[in-house]
Amino acid sequence: MRMTRSIESEYRAARARAIAGAEERRSAAYAALPRLAAIDAEKRRLAFALGPKLLQAEDPAALRAETEQAIAALDAEAQRLLADNGIAPESLRPQFRCAQCEDTGFVGPEQRMCACLRKRLLREEYASSGFAAGACFERFDTGIYSEETQLRRSVRAREICEEYAEKLSFNGAKGLLLMGDVGLGKTFLLDCIGQRALGRGWSVQKYTAYNLLDRMLRGIRERDGGLSAAGLATPDLLLIDDLGTEPFIQNVTYEVLFSAINERQNADKATVIATNLGKAQLLDDYGERLFSRMTSPRLFSVIELKGKSLR
Ligand SMILES: [Zn+2]
Repeated sequence: MRMTRSIESEYRAARARAIAGAEERRSAAYAALPRLAAIDAEKRRLAFALGPKLLQAEDPAALRAETEQAIAALDAEAQRLLADNGIAPESLRPQFRCAQCEDTGFVGPEQRMCACLRKRLLREEYASSGFAAGACFERFDTGIYSEETQLRRSVRAREICEEYAEKLSFNGAKGLLLMGDVGLGKTFLLDCIGQRALGRGWSVQKYTAYNLLDRMLRGIRERDGGLSAAGLATPDLLLIDDLGTEPFIQNVTYEVLFSAINERQNADKATVIATNLGKAQLLDDYGERLFSRMTSPRLFSVIELKGKSLR
């Protein structure tokens, strides 16, 4: 996950807002209660003066304790003053969105990424990766299956997909081919895999076969703005949905898809493909060379969903 400039400035702005808000509320409190301002000024004066005094003190520990006592007494007076005037002490402190990192996004001496920032980055990746927001393995609903065999088959498919999403491989194959008619939940499983893989820290990109082809053709035509086969090799996981719905251009569609899958395999990266086509049609449409890649047990695990449409 990468920190983007927009998220960085979002955090900076949130932190600045929280601090400015507290300063505003404190000035208002000072205006209403001049004694409060005097107490804070006195506390600052005591704290500043302590350093130089300690250097000359005969009994530094006693001096330190004395100063701490004086500050505590001032604190107590301020608390009473606020309580008497119905002001909550917290309201004078910055109200950060996240108390752990105080809206910096990082915590501790090693400046580890805060949980809130990790969540925020994930949300950004989900939004830009094209996944359905609600698709995750936890939401896999067994209640939607009316047939026992379809239920069993789908539960097994879910298990395989979940295991695959954890390691980006299944039975040693880095590819996963999800087959089945429209309405059997392929896209849902594809999105579940994507979400889980993102959650495990992998980089993920999702395309429909249509978009993939379109962007790769643009990459060839315009050089930039499009997608190169080499660029396709970057994400840890590539999800291709709806293989078979892309426009068929003689000699082009096949070559582009082949180079995409080839590039992924050469880079030893994981690829999941979902298609409505059956095996016979895949072989017919894409030819022996591509078909054998997508169905070779060494390279792809194949899941075939069968049964009644869930739509
Ligand atoms: Zn945080």
